[in-house]
Amino acid sequence: GERRLADINALVQESLNLAYHGARAEKSDFNITLTQDLDPDVGEIEVYPQEITRALLNVISNGFYAATRRKSEAGDETFEPVLSATTNNLDDKVEIRIRDNGTGIPVEVKEKMFNPFFTTKPAGEGTGLGLSMTHDIIVKQHGGTLDVESELGVFTEFIITLPR
Ligand code: ADP
Ligand code: MG
Repeated sequence: GERRLADINALVQESLNLAYHGARAEKSDFNITLTQDLDPDVGEIEVYPQEITRALLNVISNGFYAATRRKSEAGDETFEPVLSATTNNLDDKVEIRIRDNGTGIPVEVKEKMFNPFFTTKPAGEGTGLGLSMTHDIIVKQHGGTLDVESELGVFTEFIITLPR
């Protein structure tokens, strides 16, 4: 894809829609609450839009998996899986946060999860390539940052920044 000026909030919304419809197509009873808090000041920046969408899809689908997994593990019908997307304009950069209320990430997983082919998912459900690809796109291709905050059994939040 081409590098061009792109509306970052629109890419976030498009990625949420694509991920949601993809999950629905795979599993007709898939259900999650999506929330968005998009900062209108974020505006447009120069990116490879297809690559940013690909990176966001990876992170969002991981969040969907973790949140719905927590629900099935807990066997708790009252637990509501939620994924939220937030953007913030930070003047010299744009921040995108993708948060889920899923299983959280154990320390031993956190150390390895950006390695290619590392997955904790059953065979056929994960390639282990999502986060290494996301890291390449955000950090190597765009000069941004990719960080994660997580509390086991409570939440996971990926924090992406992209320079202006
Ligand atoms: P895959 O999704 O194919 O397993 P990824 O590179 O996308 O590969 O993720 C690697 C691993 O990181 C996952 O298998 C999982 O253990 C962990 N992980 C990633 N995102 C989350 C998340 N939102 N919540 C909990 N664990 C996560
Ligand atoms: Mg993945």
